Amino acid sequence: MPSLIFRKGLDLKHAVAGMLADNYHSSVIERIKAEDFTFRSDRLTVHLAREFGFCYGVDRAVDYAYQTRERFPDRQVFLTGEIIHNPHVNEQLRAMGIRFLTDEGESIDHLGATDVVILPAFGVTVAMLQKLDERGCTLIDTTCGSVLNVWKNVRRYAEGGYTSVIHGKVWHEETQATASQTASYGGKYLVVFDQKETESVCEHIRHGGDTDAFMGRFRNAASPGFDPDRDLERIGLANQTTMLMTESLQIGEMIRQAVIDRYGEHELSERYQAFDTICSATQDRQDAVVALLREHPIDLMIVIGGYNSSNTANLARICAAARPTFHIADPDCLVSPEEIRHRPVGSKTEVTATGWLPRTGRLAVGLTSGASTPDNLVGAAVARLETFCRSTAC
Ligand code: SF4
Repeated sequence: MPSLIFRKGLDLKHAVAGMLADNYHSSVIERIKAEDFTFRSDRLTVHLAREFGFCYGVDRAVDYAYQTRERFPDRQVFLTGEIIHNPHVNEQLRAMGIRFLTDEGESIDHLGATDVVILPAFGVTVAMLQKLDERGCTLIDTTCGSVLNVWKNVRRYAEGGYTSVIHGKVWHEETQATASQTASYGGKYLVVFDQKETESVCEHIRHGGDTDAFMGRFRNAASPGFDPDRDLERIGLANQTTMLMTESLQIGEMIRQAVIDRYGEHELSERYQAFDTICSATQDRQDAVVALLREHPIDLMIVIGGYNSSNTANLARICAAARPTFHIADPDCLVSPEEIRHRPVGSKTEVTATGWLPRTGRLAVGLTSGASTPDNLVGAAVARLETFCRSTAC
């Protein structure tokens, strides 16, 4: 039996509003926002970025997950994986009895027509959707509109005979879903992570070269049967929605220039297309942190968000280029005035650092959080900073 799909919630927004506020709202943060995004206490000043935290897509996805639990209290409810990349939110959903298909012992093959499955904000692959459809489950689709916009663009590329070059992380659920959309329309794709990878793509566009070496490098990032000699002749550029805007623009320019070098300016419009698919929430948060760093004499930056959150990692990259920066997963990482657990930019693991907080003098801390971080975690971080600064000398 085909699946029943809910794409616009379950008409229970009001029923879950109180629960959502209890779990994620922060009166401290509301107060700080009202006071020009600034918190002052003794020697400590905290400057909040003017855009931070839950984006419209995450807000909606979490809301729909709560509505789902409310609507189907007696049914088994599953998520295909993390609903968003924030451990706190995912744990909260587990505590409500929502199960994760990525957990050990869970499997799509065990699902049946009475089961309910929530699709995350970053979407799922076409193959996953087909499997769920075959099982006849009820589906709650929370895929963000900005992700659907990327899919629309790559499908258009596929239909026009363009290979989608996707600036993204090949292991990220959103990029996997986007690539699968391309493939389902018979299109080719290639995922590039950064300028270094793009440089080798550009090299191949300009001069061709060793196809085996190219595929050795991009095998896991290219569509099946990808042939760089054939499939780089016409390119459409897309981005994972949460990448660093400046880097996406550079990557687009690199490819555009390589196409001109190879085929000449007169063939550019036939051979290269680009649509900016970075979402506005990501863009707003990146712009806000740049403004924060420009407008205030910040001593150190704290960026809060899951370590596997792409947009949070990119906020940390922006900050780290300008100030000492600590990307922390949650407020507990602020262990003491002496000790902090954080993930340095570019590293894959969390480390513990000591002596991170200046012990004396006035201190200006910049604070932001990723699009999947609820305000209550940001509020708790401010409270910890205040306590730490009080306990150290003025
Ligand atoms: S980061 Fe952007 S694309 Fe992702 S859920 Fe939020 S608004 Fe949607």
